[in-house]
Amino acid sequence: MFRGVCYSLLMSAQILDGLKIRDEIFAELKLEVERLAAQGIRPGLAAVLVGENPASQIYVKSKIAACEQLGMTSWMHTPLASATTEYMLQLVDDLNRDDNVDGILIQLPLPAQVDSKRVLEAVDPAKDVDGFHPTNMGKLVTNRPGLVACTPAGCMELLRRYRVPVEGANAVVLGRSDIVGKPMALLLLHANATVTICHSKSRDLPEIIKRADILVAAIGRAGFVHADWIRSGAAVIDVGTNKVTDPAEAERLLRDFPERREKFRVKGSVLVGDVHPDALYTAGALSPVPGGVGPMTITMLMSNTVKAARLRRGKSSLVAGN
Ligand code: NAP
Repeated sequence: MFRGVCYSLLMSAQILDGLKIRDEIFAELKLEVERLAAQGIRPGLAAVLVGENPASQIYVKSKIAACEQLGMTSWMHTPLASATTEYMLQLVDDLNRDDNVDGILIQLPLPAQVDSKRVLEAVDPAKDVDGFHPTNMGKLVTNRPGLVACTPAGCMELLRRYRVPVEGANAVVLGRSDIVGKPMALLLLHANATVTICHSKSRDLPEIIKRADILVAAIGRAGFVHADWIRSGAAVIDVGTNKVTDPAEAERLLRDFPERREKFRVKGSVLVGDVHPDALYTAGALSPVPGGVGPMTITMLMSNTVKAARLRRGKSSLVAGN
């Protein structure tokens, strides 16, 4: 253990800056939207927000704002919290049939009475910009072109644009959810990494993580991965977004980050990833929380919507790798 080490005296990792890459990709997408507009095509995203969950409202509003910023069309559908599965299926069917709609986004979670799985599976796979439909998951498994889940696609873009070598690397994915861990592992595998997937039943996690050239952490446990589990020089993508409100926990996690501790004192909460913030001094490269994967997720949603607009009309892309 590094117990007692003052990490801030050590070298800092390169920051994998999601805000910077978002701006870069937005500039590229804007050009692509203009090019499509010149051909009479305006990519459009229909967002469905059921009920009045405040966090979901913020997420959907930021997605609509991103569409506006890029010159895309957007629609917001706001069924009541009492909406039934049948109502939702009818709405999805209407959006599937509407040729102006290129992407359909069903903001999760849906109310308990709605069969979320049925609703998500009713979305036309060609408009499934979240990449959750089994058809798109199947395409990903078999490495065929399709719409890929936004968060893992964003993690890959961070690695690609910061030129982190993936081919032949030992990549460890911590977490095996359908929306992050599994697609992430498949994307790394298709990029020729040697991939290990870990989950809550995995044994010897520190030993497995210590062998990783690339670590993607997506478990939802604040600061779970200790800084001294990270191999020197490893690239760490921290997907976790955990709101810490306990002062003792904030103190433990932010011992070497006085400015963040001060912010916690003012605000009463702080966002921390699944990797202990001290990894800044042990990793070679690190995506921060906040400001790493978060902005990339919305960026890839925009990218998927433009891609869906193109693919539905048989057009090729200006953006590399899209
Ligand atoms: P999830 O569906 O709850 O899955 C969590 C995964 O972590 C499961 O596979 C679980 O294993 C594993 N896990 C839980 N505790 C563990 C432990 N102690 N040791 C090893 N593995 C453990 O979560 P998710 O939707 O994938 O999200 C993961 C995190 O990413 C959350 O913090 C979420 O907020 C964040 N997230 C961020 C973004 C973004 O845009 N920044 C997007 C999506 C998610 P089992 O399968 O064995 O239960």
